[in-house]
Amino acid sequence: MTPTNDLGPQPGQLRVLHVEDNELDAELVATALRKGGFSVSAAVVQTETEFEQQLLLYRPGVVIADYNLPQWKGMEALEVLRREGLDTPLILVSGALGDITAVECIKRGATDYVLKDGLARLPEAVRRALQEKRLLRLRHKAEEDLAHKVEELARSNADLEQFAYVASHDLQEPLRMVAAYTQLLAERYRGKLDENADKFIGYASEGALRMQSLIQDLLAFSRVGRNGSGRVDCDAVMGEVLMTLGPAIQESGAVVTHAALPEVWANRTQMAQVFQNLIGNAIKFRGKEPPAISVEAEKAGQQWLFSVSDNGIGIAPEYAENIFVVFQRLHSRAEYPGNGIGLAICKKIVERDGGKIWVEARADHGSVFKFTMPCDGPAEKELCGAEMAMPGR
Ligand code: ADP
Repeated sequence: MTPTNDLGPQPGQLRVLHVEDNELDAELVATALRKGGFSVSAAVVQTETEFEQQLLLYRPGVVIADYNLPQWKGMEALEVLRREGLDTPLILVSGALGDITAVECIKRGATDYVLKDGLARLPEAVRRALQEKRLLRLRHKAEEDLAHKVEELARSNADLEQFAYVASHDLQEPLRMVAAYTQLLAERYRGKLDENADKFIGYASEGALRMQSLIQDLLAFSRVGRNGSGRVDCDAVMGEVLMTLGPAIQESGAVVTHAALPEVWANRTQMAQVFQNLIGNAIKFRGKEPPAISVEAEKAGQQWLFSVSDNGIGIAPEYAENIFVVFQRLHSRAEYPGNGIGLAICKKIVERDGGKIWVEARADHGSVFKFTMPCDGPAEKELCGAEMAMPGR
């Protein structure tokens, strides 16, 4: 090994590890780099052992390797770099290198190659190689940061879900006690204390019942996502939903129509819950006319786009996002019963399988709730396409 600089590399110097058996060629390379504006410190090696040693001791910024050495091949330096887990760029310098060999070397991982009689090009090749390495490191760093953030987000979401589940589950028991005993108080002491006492006991037991219903809804919300997904025939699901909603449909005189509905990738029970919440809301938030509700589906790329439209009271555009948040409502319970969890549950169900849900105003009056669901699961993507036929009705 011939160090060309006895003092060792100085700050700002380019450290070159040169795999070369010809001292004159090594000097020409160093000169070309200096001429090209680099301050160079170089170590020259000839064998694999020397190369390995210098790689670790010298920590070069770039490796320049002669393609053909008597004892060793320059390209094999690449294997050593890989083994050591180093991303140091390697530039081949050779007396003659056919185009095919050159392409082969680049494919195997060399950053560039320069002919010995064209060394004037070397500084530019080194500059580009260093720049590429810098960009690659930045990209890796950005990818690592992103992966880290995604992992953190998933963990914090899981913690939050676990918290909501445990809190709502564990709160049920003491609340059951409060509700039971305030009810007992109401039954046993109604009319026996003064008028205010009756009122206060009434408020307390109403509050306890209300809290029970909120906690049950919160529990239902935090349970979404605990079951697996599969292929779901929405036509069959819709039939069941319409049966469940039968009494509300009859009582309101609603007319619910639906086109042929496709199969989607979802959890069956939860898919039913989405339809039930949306159609139930369309009935509940009806206008003066009997509810006219229609459910449709159309293909949009890898997804099915569903729409549930009604002729009800409609939603002002400024509330179009709020209504999907847990316990957010636009009306008092005296006007319309409910806790404000139905749409939050729909959103969680739809997003869990990669879909989206939103509401649009209807041109005349009423609302259109739209949501997307994937037509296939992650492992079945190739099935999604022409052969994805709508089930016949
Ligand atoms: P809830 O029905 O218990 O109030 P939701 O989460 O299902 O809870 O709905 C949230 C709010 O969104 C409702 O209180 C209502 O103001 C509004 N909303 C939902 N669906 C409709 C609809 N089809 N038409 C008009 N307003 C609606």
